[in-house]
Amino acid sequence: MIKADIIDKELREKLNNVAKDEMAVFVMADGRIRGALFNGTHFINQMKAQHNTGILETYILGQGMLCGALLIPMMKGREKVLWKYEVNGPAKGFMIEADSVGTVHGFLTTDHIPIDKPLENWNMAPFLGDGIITMQRMQENDKQPFSSSVDVHDKNIAMDLATYFSMSQQINTGFSTSIQMDNMGRVIGAGGIFLQVMPETGGTKKIGAEVSSSSDWKDDEELLQRAEMALNAIPSLGGWFAEGNGLDNLINGMFREFKPTIAVRRDITFDCPCNKEHYLKYIKTLPKSEIDSIKNSGEKFIEVQCHNCSSIYKINVDEI
Ligand SMILES: [Zn+2]
Repeated sequence: MIKADIIDKELREKLNNVAKDEMAVFVMADGRIRGALFNGTHFINQMKAQHNTGILETYILGQGMLCGALLIPMMKGREKVLWKYEVNGPAKGFMIEADSVGTVHGFLTTDHIPIDKPLENWNMAPFLGDGIITMQRMQENDKQPFSSSVDVHDKNIAMDLATYFSMSQQINTGFSTSIQMDNMGRVIGAGGIFLQVMPETGGTKKIGAEVSSSSDWKDDEELLQRAEMALNAIPSLGGWFAEGNGLDNLINGMFREFKPTIAVRRDITFDCPCNKEHYLKYIKTLPKSEIDSIKNSGEKFIEVQCHNCSSIYKINVDEI
C-alpha cells in the first residue's frame, strides 16, 4: 500500500489530541462474556485518506471497517476473513478483509452514493436495504475458504453483523460502532465495541457439581439482558474518543457489574498488502492480445489502482 497522507492541517491538529488507536480485548462475568473495545479514530482517517471518501461514504464504509476490525480478536490462530455486505439500496455494499495480524482493508461497492437531499440525520437505512452477508474464513493451511451467508433485513451494519453471528454461529453477539464528524465532515473520533455472551458449557447446570460457586451468571437469559443493557448504555464512542478519552475508563466504568479484566491490547491498522510487483505479475498473466494492446498503445506507463486501498501504481510498459 502507498500510504496516503492526511493533508488537512486542522484535522491533523485535532488528531494530535486523540489517544493513539488501540483495541482492548476483555473478559468478564466469570468468562461468560467476552468483548473488545477499539479506538479506531486514526484507522478511519487512514481509510478516508486512502479512498478519499465523502461524508456518507466514510460513514458507511467506516462502520463496516470498524466491525471488520472487531472480527480480528474472534479469529483463531492465523486467519483471514473476507466479509461481503451486499444490499439493494444505493450504497450497494462493501467488501472488507480482516487479517489476524491486525490489518483491515476494503472498499465500497460504489464510489459515490447518490443522494437527492441533504442528510437530516445519521440513519443509514435509506442507503442500505435488504441483502446478504457472506463471510469467508480462511485459516493458514486451508486450501478452500469456509463460507457462510445469511439474509439481512435490519438496514443497520452493526445489527446485521450481529444477526450473522446469531444465525450462523449461534452466538449472541452485539456490535456497536460510532463515527463522530465535526461540522466540516472531518472524522474527529471513531470506535467500535462488541460483546459476546458465551453459551453455558453443556450439562453442568442440572448436575450442579461443576458450576462455579462464585458465579452470579447462571441464568443465560438474565445475563444476556444485562449485557444488552450495558451495551446500549455506553456513550457515543466517536464522541468519547474525540474528547481524548482512552479505553480503560470506559470498560471499567460501564461494565463494572461484570468485573471486567483486560486480557490483551493490540494494534489494528488500515493496511493493504498490495505492491507494484504484485500488479506487474498479474498483468503478465493477461491474455497475449491484451498485453499487445497495452504495448502498442504508445503509452510509456500504465496506472493500476488497488480496489482495497486506492493506491495507484505506475507501471513502465517496458517492464511488461
Ligand atoms: Zn492495496
